[in-house]
Amino acid sequence: MFSISQGIRGLQFMRHLHINTKEALQLVETQAVGLKAVARNDLLRGTIINVFRSPILSSPTMHTVMLDEATHVAPTEGAECISHACDATNTRIIIHEDRKGASFVVTEDVAAGEDLTFNYNTTEWDMNSPFTCQCAACKQKGFPTVVRGFKHLSLEERSRIADEASPLILKQSAEDSSRFSNLVDTLQKNEASYFSPIEDPEESVGSV
Ligand SMILES: [Zn+2]
Repeated sequence: MFSISQGIRGLQFMRHLHINTKEALQLVETQAVGLKAVARNDLLRGTIINVFRSPILSSPTMHTVMLDEATHVAPTEGAECISHACDATNTRIIIHEDRKGASFVVTEDVAAGEDLTFNYNTTEWDMNSPFTCQCAACKQKGFPTVVRGFKHLSLEERSRIADEASPLILKQSAEDSSRFSNLVDTLQKNEASYFSPIEDPEESVGSV
């Protein structure tokens, strides 16, 4: 069993498998969160399950991922319904080197039927649609957390997820306050794994 941070650092050395998004996930209607994405098939750690490049928006929406302060792009084909979780997530975002798109990559082996999750605070600085978290960790704590972006986390909370956080977020965090400058080391580490050359999914669909 590897820790999430080791797993994520290790991902940069992996050759990513691609799987068609429709084979990777299906949407399930829930009362608590509306539509959520669950794994349609068993998914291996390191598999890319969604590559998204458009539409590019100048401000965030409920579903977008931040590529830089003025560039936001939404996942597609149901991947926009991958739920937020504060802890024990099984996917993460990789931002393409050209900063014009991003991909979802699976960070742990996932069994068919499991919820797909990632921590929205790792890519979003200041969310335009905050919401009350319904994740397993929050339910276990017994009190609700409002998810509203990295900007709104305490130093302790920022440090806890820094290994998973986008370099763009960590840069903003360092500029936000010198109290957070200790995250700059993590920023440099993350740059290696976050900005990744991702080949066109069309070239690799079916290669799994
Ligand atoms: Zn939560």
